[in-house]
Amino acid sequence: MLKILGKIGLLVPALATATVWLVVLRLKNVPVPLLGAYGLLLIGLVAGLLWPGVLGRRVTRRRVLTFVGVPVGLGTLALYLTVVYHVKDLPMLLALAGAACLAGAVSALLRGRRRADDQGTRRTRRALLLGGAGLVLGMLSGLSIGPVERQRREMLARGEHERQAAMRAPGARRRITDGAVRVFPIHIGDTIVTYGQFYGGLDGWEGLNGYLRTLVDKAQIAVPVYAYLIDHPRHGPMLVDTGVNWEQAHDHDGYYDMTSRLLTERDEYRMSPGQDLRVHLARLGYDVKEITTVFLTHVHDDHAGGLRYLPQATVVMDRRDWKHGVLYPYSFDLVKDNLSFPAFDSGAFGTFPASQDYFGDGSLVLLPTPGHSPGHMCVLLRLDTGSVLFMGDTLYTLSHLATGQVRQMTIGGADTIRQLEAAQRIQQLLSSDPGVVPLFAHDNTRYQFDLVTSTFTDGTPGAAGLWELRRHMQTVLTPEWRLRPGHTPRFVAPASGPGLGKVEFR
Ligand SMILES: [Zn+2]
Repeated sequence: MLKILGKIGLLVPALATATVWLVVLRLKNVPVPLLGAYGLLLIGLVAGLLWPGVLGRRVTRRRVLTFVGVPVGLGTLALYLTVVYHVKDLPMLLALAGAACLAGAVSALLRGRRRADDQGTRRTRRALLLGGAGLVLGMLSGLSIGPVERQRREMLARGEHERQAAMRAPGARRRITDGAVRVFPIHIGDTIVTYGQFYGGLDGWEGLNGYLRTLVDKAQIAVPVYAYLIDHPRHGPMLVDTGVNWEQAHDHDGYYDMTSRLLTERDEYRMSPGQDLRVHLARLGYDVKEITTVFLTHVHDDHAGGLRYLPQATVVMDRRDWKHGVLYPYSFDLVKDNLSFPAFDSGAFGTFPASQDYFGDGSLVLLPTPGHSPGHMCVLLRLDTGSVLFMGDTLYTLSHLATGQVRQMTIGGADTIRQLEAAQRIQQLLSSDPGVVPLFAHDNTRYQFDLVTSTFTDGTPGAAGLWELRRHMQTVLTPEWRLRPGHTPRFVAPASGPGLGKVEFR
């Protein structure tokens, strides 16, 4: 009885570890047939070691180890090296190999001392060899730390070189100071997401089910990441969100720690030198060091990555996000002491039960919109001719305003309900004030690429520009927030083989 319990005690953690490892490999896009074969070998190994008799009377643990264990070991190493390995693992891998050698040496030494014959001498000799190898590997591990770091630094220096060139390219804008409030959309690269995660909220992409589907459904699209620069005559240059930073896009595995690296994809973000936040600001006539305040709609890394360049800025965000929503703390390393949490004590704002009139002059109002993250907020900015509403990730695109037809993946339960409440409040705000224009963080439609971009080229859209954007909204959405024909998103698979799909609107 005890023996069986002991075996079950071994079986459960072994299966749990194997499952996590298989999930990681699937996230890294290892094909399902390959994973199936590898998974069967893993099960065979575990079963064969725990109950060798089950597989036949001649099957011994030693044979299981040789015929199943060795292929599993080699396969694991090969899979790790192809989809997980990053050069910064090298010191750790050498140290692990060294430790294994030393453990082998100690065991051989202890067993060798028990015998005075030839075999004892052989074991002592083996112990010496293993011990020597262990020490050499340990030394190599220490020595490799320097070169590995140097290699990363060189790669980042190459990026710096490309960025400098992008900053100097012709066509930069001269800064105008005429007392107008200005807003500039900043396209900071793209992020690769599954189509269902972005558009499939009504087709079962919710809660655990949604996360499981990201493992199986690899229909992926690229969507833009937008931050916004505000130049305010009274309050100076400020940002709404900061996009991703250069390292996230170009040194993904080096930037993220082991766990995050295992659970995200290497090509999660894409960014050209010209899309770097610092380059964008320079070409608009601003220095990144001038930014006084960042309004962070939420903590997710595609919004907080650029904080690495803004150590001087006050970072305004909802306390609930800081307490419960931070996934990757290192993006905040340089601004941890500059965080400012609004009290949301300026009273109700339309249908929003709470708000924060941040400067006390009505120029910028923070509106809590939890759901996408525990402390998500939207930002309403008064322009000279109307207002803009920065959506963050409450609604990804203009078509997401049709909440009964298009929805992003939600966490489920109370969070999904909050997310929908926030969306309804936004609908009511837009319905009640035709002078408010929504600006999105990931809109991948013509609204963002053509209209918003051209309307805000100079930062000041004017009353006619804002009206034009609202008019376009009416061609996409009915007053009841339904999509008009020709605007329902649909996934179009890539013409051949794997790769990114496209979104078509029908
Ligand atoms: Zn986002």
